[in-house]
Amino acid sequence: MGFVDLENLAKYIEFPDAAMEVLGQPQRQTIMSLRLKLSETESISAKAYVVYHSLLRGPAKGGIRMAPDVTLEHTAHLAELMTWKTALMKLPFGGGKSGIAIDPQPLTHFIKASFLRDWIMQTRLDLEKGIYVPAPDMGTGPSDMAVIFGETHIPECVTGKPIGVGGLPGRLEATGRGVATTSRLAAEQILQRPLNELTVAIQGFGNVGSFAALFCHEMGFKVVAVNDIRGGIHNPEGFDVPRLMRHVAETRSVVGFPGDSISGEELLHLPVDVLIPAAMGDVIHQKNANQIQAKIIVEAANGPVTQEADAILNDRGVQTVPDILANAGGVSASYVEWHHSKSGGMTTKQQVLDNLDALMTDAWNRTRAAQERCKCDLRTAAQLVSAEELISSLRDRNWI
Ligand code: NAD
Repeated sequence: MGFVDLENLAKYIEFPDAAMEVLGQPQRQTIMSLRLKLSETESISAKAYVVYHSLLRGPAKGGIRMAPDVTLEHTAHLAELMTWKTALMKLPFGGGKSGIAIDPQPLTHFIKASFLRDWIMQTRLDLEKGIYVPAPDMGTGPSDMAVIFGETHIPECVTGKPIGVGGLPGRLEATGRGVATTSRLAAEQILQRPLNELTVAIQGFGNVGSFAALFCHEMGFKVVAVNDIRGGIHNPEGFDVPRLMRHVAETRSVVGFPGDSISGEELLHLPVDVLIPAAMGDVIHQKNANQIQAKIIVEAANGPVTQEADAILNDRGVQTVPDILANAGGVSASYVEWHHSKSGGMTTKQQVLDNLDALMTDAWNRTRAAQERCKCDLRTAAQLVSAEELISSLRDRNWI
């Protein structure tokens, strides 16, 4: 069975058994062994997983994660989230994900690119046929997507490319922008207080966390705590986020920026209005859910709140904006990039971000309407909206 609780959704809407069967399992899973010889005596190798949870609505869309602890199960979970995310956003994509079980940190750009070429060789047919359209995720970035473009020379077979090779202006900022937009909507509609009175803590200061911080700051929120893998900082008055970003660009960490140092657990337990986990999965769990003092959690990362923690937080009245909504800005911008790569279209960063704000607001409004109608939490509401799209697509394809 999958990770989305389909039985729970069936309490609210008519959920055909055949739809449960199709959506409850991945459509295809591949395990690969990657290997690169570095010299006569040295080589690197890793397992890689490519999962297409669903090709129902279009090509499987989902990033490539490079991290030592990725597993097939983990990759399948992330692929499933993509199915629900793309349907929630009404995009013509299915859900997929790749995991490469290696730590990219010690690899030079040259070695990383050479290693990725083995993955491309083994995935090539699907990339060229448009069955799978990858993008960056943790441990990969635009330069890795440029390697994929370089190997295939098909612009639409990958998104998240650098601007100079058909990338979309605004794609880099898009996930963080969407996180900030949903944080603003949640603050306005749930907390009903002016943004400049509200505090935000952000776990993780990579692509998503840093741009979420920047846009939250520009919207008027006070960003009072941030951290990364090397440590964290706290300033109750709020950080000057553009300055903090310059510090991170120079030193590769938030550590050393003026502020009190704070541990990872302390950051999660701060009495802030909005907590944005933007690093890894499963960071809010059964053991720490009762210590969370934030009023709203916005899931910038994929799966940062476990199912057990979700139940505890719901009982305590903490509202969680789910990942399939909160971080859907990235895949929505990827859709625009894919479309432009196919058609030769061009756009500006401002147009991309304005369009994204409209898409995120529309998805938020549809989710809130479902929450109102079904009297449920935001995660269930977003899944219900998505389920209706998916069931309708299943009917359109005569799969049920
Ligand atoms: P990234 O690699 O750019 O950044 C990850 C950040 O998390 C880094 O600052 C790292 O130092 C920090 N981190 C790692 N371990 C930590 C720890 N124990 N405590 C605190 N911080 C820690 O990754 P990203 O692209 O920003 O992705 C972050 C999350 O957002 C992932 O869950 C990813 O799946 C999700 N996501 C990313 C995108 C995207 O467009 N990049 C889209 C949707 C979802």
